[in-house]
Order: sequence, then C-alpha cells, then structure tokens
Amino acid sequence: MPTSTAAPPASSTARTRKPNGQWVIDGREPLNATEIFKADDDGLNVRERIETVYAKNGFDSIAGDDLHGRFRWWGLYTQRRPGIDGGKTATLEPHELEDRYFMMRIRIDGGVLNARQLRAIGGISTDFARDTADLTDRQNIQLHWVRIEDVPEIWRRLESVGLRTTEACGDVPRVILGSPVAGIAADEIIDPTPALKEISDNYIGDPRFSNLPRKYKTALTGHPSQDVVHEINDVAFVGVRHPALGPGYDLWVGGGLSTSAHLAQRLGTFVPEDRVAEVWIGVTSIFRDYGYRRLRNKARLKYLVADWGPEKFRDVLEGEYLGAPLPDGPAAEKPDTPGDHIGVHRQKDGKFYIGLAPTVGRSSGTTLTALADLLDKYGSGRLRTTPHQKILLLDIDESDVDDVIAGAAELGLQARPSPFRRTTMACTGLEFCKLAIVDTKDTAADVIAELEQRLDGVPLPAPIALHINGCPNSCARIQTADIGLKGQLLPDGDGGHQPGFQVHVGGGLASANRDEAGLGRTVRGLKIPAAELADYVERLVRTFLAEREGSETFA
Ligand code: SF4
Repeated sequence: MPTSTAAPPASSTARTRKPNGQWVIDGREPLNATEIFKADDDGLNVRERIETVYAKNGFDSIAGDDLHGRFRWWGLYTQRRPGIDGGKTATLEPHELEDRYFMMRIRIDGGVLNARQLRAIGGISTDFARDTADLTDRQNIQLHWVRIEDVPEIWRRLESVGLRTTEACGDVPRVILGSPVAGIAADEIIDPTPALKEISDNYIGDPRFSNLPRKYKTALTGHPSQDVVHEINDVAFVGVRHPALGPGYDLWVGGGLSTSAHLAQRLGTFVPEDRVAEVWIGVTSIFRDYGYRRLRNKARLKYLVADWGPEKFRDVLEGEYLGAPLPDGPAAEKPDTPGDHIGVHRQKDGKFYIGLAPTVGRSSGTTLTALADLLDKYGSGRLRTTPHQKILLLDIDESDVDDVIAGAAELGLQARPSPFRRTTMACTGLEFCKLAIVDTKDTAADVIAELEQRLDGVPLPAPIALHINGCPNSCARIQTADIGLKGQLLPDGDGGHQPGFQVHVGGGLASANRDEAGLGRTVRGLKIPAAELADYVERLVRTFLAEREGSETFA
C-alpha cells in the first residue's frame, strides 16, 4: 500500500479512460466472462464435444461454458422451462428458468430452400422436435424440444441436404439475409445470389470471424422493394444503378435494434458486385478488431459507427482493410412496392412466385412436409423464406396458381391474407424464451382473429404493421412497426400482475408508404393489458381512418 501523502503526479489525477476491449487498441485481454470463454476455446470447437461426449452422456454431462456459451455457435440455446410465470423471469436464477431441451436454429442464408430440404426439416421436426417449426424474421427456421442426444443425427440429416446450424447464434456472422426474390424478379436491379453465396460458402465457420465482439448481421438485396430490412443490419448491401458503373450496391453499416435502436448509416460508397465479399470481410474485420468488447451491451457495431461517424468508418475501411478505395455511389431510390412479396407475382421467366403468410411465423413439421409435397406436385421445388416470417413458392405455372393457392390455404398459408395477418409479427415469447415476460405468438394470433372479424370490410389505405415482443429486447423489431408492442407486466388491480404491453407508434423501414426509415416513439404512460389489445388496435385504426387527411397513411 502506498503511504505517501504527497499529491500524485498530474497525469494520474486525470481520469483514466477505461479500455473498451478493442483488439487493435487495447490488446486482447479478456474483459468479461464471455470474452474469457471465447478466448479459452473457439465456440466452433464445441461441435466435436457435442458429438463425442455430450450426446452420448446426456444433458448433465455438459460443461457450463459450453451449455451457456459455445452451444450458440452451433445454433443451440436451452429453452424456457414450461409453466414459469413471466413475473419470475427477473427473479429466478438462469438455471431455474432453463429446461433440459434446446431450441435449434437452422441457418438458411438468403432464405434459399428446396422441397427436399423442406421435407428434411419437416421430418426432423416430427421425429425430434415435437412437430415445432417457427419461421423467423431472419429467414431461419427454429425447432424446439430438441434433446442433446438427438443433435448429431439432426446435423447428419440437415447436412445430407445441404443445410446447417453453423454460427446460427453466438458472437459470429449470423444468417445472411438475402432478397427472397433474388434471381427471379422481373424488376431486379442486380441479383445478389453470387455475392451472398461467396460470403456464405467461404466465411461462415471461418475461425477468423468466429470471435466477434457480439452478433453480426448481414443483408443483401438487389430488389427495388429493399426487402431485407437493411437499415437494422450491421452491414448491408442495397442494389443501386450507378450512372457510369452500372448495377452494384450501396453500402450501409451500423444498424441494430434491441433496447437501444440505431438505424444503419450509408457510407456513400458504390460497391461493384465483384468487391462485395472483400468489403464484407473489411467491415467484419473492423468489427472484430475495433469493436467494443468490455461491456456486452455496448458490443454491437452500431456503437462504433455512432462514435466514429460514417466518414471515419469509410476512411478506416478503405485505408486499412481494402486493396483500393471505393467509388462514391448514389443512394437507392425509395421503394414503390411492398417488400413482403405476399400474393402472386410474375417472374422474369414468365412463371409466377406466390408469397404466403402463416400466422406470426408459426408452422410445424407436418405443415412443412405437406408444403414440400405441394411443391413437388407444382413448380420446380424451389422456395424462399423471408425476413417478414413469410414463405415464397417459386416457378409456378400460370395455370397452376389457383390450385397452389388453394392447397397452401389448406395448410394455413395464405396468399391473400387480411391486412393484419399479413403484417403482424411476434417473437418467440414466454412459450420458449428464457428472457420473456409475456406470451406473444398466441396473443398475436388471437388479436389477428379478432381484428379480422371486427374490421372485416373496412378498407385500409395501406397495411398497418403490428409487431409484438415478449420483453424489452426487440426480436420482433417493435421500433420499426406502425404499432410496436413491448411486453411487460402490469398491475391487475388486485395486488397481482397481468401480461400487457407498452406501445410504440410510427416506426417503419424503407417502404412505399413512407419517405425514409424512422423509429417508433413510445406513447408515454400508455400500457395495454394483453386481454384488451384487440380493443386498443381497433380503436386506434378507426380513429386514424376517421381523422386522416387526404392520402395520409398511418406511417
Ligand atoms: Fe425472447 Fe425478448 Fe427476444 Fe422475444 S424479444 S424472443 S421475449 S428475448
């Protein structure tokens, strides 16, 4: 212990700034428990232990760092134990909330699937996942009730049809969003398939990018509807036509929602098709090398972009990571068609694609298998998942369109859904998520059914998007919905609590209905009990319709 009472030197009186854990600035010292386990052993390495040890010896044999950390690198999370009230989410220890079963996320880069793969997922779901299968808003399919003993066989079946769970969760490049109409839409500016495939084939599962500060989300589209929610991804490439250089991409960085929403920023560059992978590597490397690691809640790329600004980010990208600067480029034009692709649309080859809406992304293995049968009967067997929890069936002959629509409707997949079935999204919620406070999917399904009845025949100038989250995180993107609902517990007037929602209104991403993306605002003081949600939405919609001026939309 120093005993001197003399004043310390001036330099030590200045407040020392804590390091942010940036590899190129602060070195590689682990700064929190997550960084320690990541430094100890790469998350990708857990696969061998799952196959050789854990699947053989069962749940109780799984080491803690693997169970609660590295398993994510292979798309595995423990799910919530059934029957635990949302009020206990914050008070119970994590292990008390946890079940001995897993959620498994199947990674589907670009949402590109075929009937054989769909049938494989359907079979896995019915054999190993109690017939669960949710379509996520990131083009993945999630299964529940998976036992550790079955994971190797599930991987074997998935990989035999070209699917995988590699880096579906964890501090890694997550599934790459791609335009669901890539390569088929008649009005496409540029087909992102080659660039997306180059990244997916070469850099997913690459140990150079398997220890990022936190999750890292990528999106690519060449469709004018800008159908990949590019404003809320860490890195996004949006198709544009350069007046001199032709089709290519406008580069966006630093978007993300969660509890602190940031919209991505344009760097003002034009990325030619043959430089997309190089630029993706550059941006990803900046995140790996300069991204903040000390605090988990500051470890997304959005915080670095917000601190640096787009000019500095572009300077570092071009100066330290790319072989040559990028040309300046134009911004993409405002979309003039919806990006959910619901309904029947002509492809550039004269065939048709049909966009189908399940209810809030909920499906089942049985449904997916039946859909594979439908695809085998009609079309080429190709399909796509979308970032809006929807499915597109491709390559349908005009003469088969009505039969396909009727067959899909029997499976609960609608080509002509009501406005609220079309736009409502819900996260996993209380049913399976350990962070959840309230139920989401069943609540949303009930509200949709109610609104369909109450507002039947009431014309809306444009669909009104309703997004429902089960906690303050934003897996269902509440800040970017016309009406965003954040789950929380409300007093029930009897000394207890009831599930309810805080309301955000007026958010939205690039679309035909609004000039630019904007984040919704919290309606101060307004909390709606879940049981009164349909009443509230109906009232809001009717008030809007009564008071709107001219061609005013809800947005
Ligand atoms: Fe779970 Fe919350 Fe995400 Fe919903 S928003 S899936 S409840 S973490």
